[in-house]
Amino acid sequence: MSTRSNVDVLVIGAGAAGIGAGLTLSRRRVDFAIVEASHRIGGRGYTEELAPGEFFDLGCHWLHSASINPLTAVADRLGYTYRKEAFSRRVFTDGAWQPDTIIDERDAYADRTYAAMHAHSDAGEDISIYDCMDRDNRWASMFDHWITLDTSADPDQVSAFDLVRYNDTNEDWPIREGYGRLICELGAALPVELNCAVERIDWRGSRVVVTTAKGVIEAKAVILTVSTGVLGADDIEFLPRLPDWKRDAISAVPLGHHNRICIRFERNLFGEKANEGVTLLKDNDECMALRIRPFGFQRVVGGTGGRFAQWLERAGVEASVAYVVDCIAEVFGNGIRKHVGGHVVSAWSSDPWVRGAYAASLPGQFHQRQHLAATVAEKILFAGEATSDGFQATVHGAYLSGEAKALEAVRTLKLDS
Ligand SMILES: Cc1cc2nc3c(=O)[nH]c(=O)nc-3n(C[C@H](O)[C@H](O)[C@H](O)COP(=O)(O)OP(=O)(O)OC[C@H]3O[C@@H](n4cnc5c(N)ncnc54)[C@H](O)[C@@H]3O)c2cc1C
Repeated sequence: MSTRSNVDVLVIGAGAAGIGAGLTLSRRRVDFAIVEASHRIGGRGYTEELAPGEFFDLGCHWLHSASINPLTAVADRLGYTYRKEAFSRRVFTDGAWQPDTIIDERDAYADRTYAAMHAHSDAGEDISIYDCMDRDNRWASMFDHWITLDTSADPDQVSAFDLVRYNDTNEDWPIREGYGRLICELGAALPVELNCAVERIDWRGSRVVVTTAKGVIEAKAVILTVSTGVLGADDIEFLPRLPDWKRDAISAVPLGHHNRICIRFERNLFGEKANEGVTLLKDNDECMALRIRPFGFQRVVGGTGGRFAQWLERAGVEASVAYVVDCIAEVFGNGIRKHVGGHVVSAWSSDPWVRGAYAASLPGQFHQRQHLAATVAEKILFAGEATSDGFQATVHGAYLSGEAKALEAVRTLKLDS
C-alpha cells in the first residue's frame, strides 16, 4: 500500500483495537487507512511457530471470558482450536507437592480476599488490592503472584475496582494455534501501512494533520489505539497538548509488566503431565506459575509479572531462562537441565511500540478509565485495551473498543454511505 495523504478516518495502530476499528470502518465503506509503527500487525498479539505446527504466543494466549468473547466465534470460523478444560492448579512448596486440603486453604484465602475487594467496592472505596488482603496469611505471596499475572502490576499498584468491575466468566481458553496469529489473520486484508510511526498529531484546525515516518496524512478524525505506555512517554507530540484531564487519565492507568518465558525440551520428561498448571512457592516467598507441556508440546512456560517481571526483563534473556529453568528443576529435579532444548522469551516492556504489558488503574484512580476513553474535540478518539469498560487488559476488550470508536466516528462525522 502507498501512504494515503487524505482520508476520512485514520486509525493509528494495528493491534486488536486497530483491527476492530478497521474491520468496522471497512464494513461501513468508510474512507480510512491504518498506520502501524511496527513491521507487523497484531501489537501485543504475536505468535511464533517454533517448529511446524508448534506455536508459541509471546503475548496474549487465552480467550478470556470465552463464552461472551466475540473472538471465540472468530476462532471457530477460522478453524483455530482451544482448550476449554481448566488447567489443574497444583502447588509445590517445601520440596513437595501439596495435598488438596492445602489447595483448598489457598483457594479459601483467595475467596476471602475477593469478598473483601467486593465489600470495599460496594462501599465506594477505591483502594488497592493490597489493602484488601490479609498480609499475614501464608498464601498472600502466592496471591500477589497471581495478581501480577492478572493485572501485570503488584497488588499495591492496582485499584481493587479493576478486578471487581472486570466481567469475568472464569472461562480462560488457551488457543493452540496462537491468539496472536488469530488476530493477525483477522486483520490480514486491512489497508495497513507498516513501519509508519506517527510522530505528531496536529488538531488545531478543522482536520487532523498527522505526521508519520512516511509523510503527512490529513483526516477528519483519528482513532488512536496506542498503549498508555506509548501515550505516557510522550512518544507522539500533540499540537496543542492534550487537555490536562486526558493527560491525568493516561498517567492514572499505566502499563505494568508481564512476560512469558518458554523453555523447550528435547523430549517428554513430564510423563502424563500435559496441560498441568503448577505454582511453585519458594522458600523466600517468590512464586512462579508454570504450565507443563501445554497442548502436549515439549515445553514448560513460566509467567512473570509486576516489578519482578520488569527487573528480570532488564536482567536479560539469559537470566530469565536461568530463573525459569531453576524453578522447573526445583519441582522436577536437576536432571531436567541437560534436556533443555531451547527457549523463547518475551520482552514487552522493552518494545518501543508498547512499553509494558497491559494497563492497570492506580488505587483511587479507577474512574480515570472513563476519561481515558473519552473523545477529544470530536476528532481524537481513543481506543485500546485500557479504555475498555469491563474487559480491560484483554484482546477482546481492545477489539470491542476499536469497533465502538469506529461507530462513534461514523456517527459523529455522518459517514454512513
Ligand atoms: C505477555 C502478555 C500476555 C497477555 N495475555 C493475554 C491473554 O492471554 N488474553 C488476553 O485477552 N489478553 C492478553 N494480553 C493483553 C492483550 O494482549 C492486550 O490487551 C491487547 O492485545 C491490546 O491490544 P491494543 O490494540 O489495545 O494495543 P496494542 O496491541 O499495543 O496495539 C497498538 C498498536 O499501536 C502501534 N503503535 C505504537 N506506537 C505507534 C505510533 N507512534 N504510530 C503508529 N502505531 C503505533 C503498536 O505497534 C501496536 O501494534 C496479554 C498481554 C501481554 C503483554
